[in-house]
Amino acid sequence: MPAKNRDLFAAALAGVVVTGVLTALLEAAGLTPPVSDGVGAFVGGAVAAYVLYGKLGQAAAAGALSGVLGTPFYLGVSEILYIFGVIATPSGPTPPMSELQVAVVIILGIDLLFGIFGGTVVGGIRRPHEEPIPQPQVTPGTIAQTKYCVQCGAQLPFGTVICPHCNARQP
Ligand SMILES: [Zn+2]
Repeated sequence: MPAKNRDLFAAALAGVVVTGVLTALLEAAGLTPPVSDGVGAFVGGAVAAYVLYGKLGQAAAAGALSGVLGTPFYLGVSEILYIFGVIATPSGPTPPMSELQVAVVIILGIDLLFGIFGGTVVGGIRRPHEEPIPQPQVTPGTIAQTKYCVQCGAQLPFGTVICPHCNARQP
């Protein structure tokens, strides 16, 4: 049974939260991109694939969604952490907007790739077994096997209870 789209988004949402929170925590611990968000997106993608429990392609898609949507979530979480003083506000002059734009695009790309990577790894390990195609049940003998009436000797189809020729009950 392929996972439904609703499951895909639910799984990606779990991955988004993990990506955002983990990346912000890693940053609070002193790591910087690409390590902090790469690890965050990888684990987030892995969580998305684990929650989804789907085929490999679906797991990779969940990881990709998790990575891409995890980026703005991470930016929001780190903003909150800045405001509450959990992460030190970067000192020095604010980088120009063009530099920030490049940084966001790079982080988005890293999160996308590592999200797919994490989703693919877990999707490859944990996925449902392909359901076997049900084989039509053939009971040998139902067609070929015939019997004969105990009274008149007429050939009867297998399973006949009353002979249609002499009305004798068959054993
Ligand atoms: Zn008969």
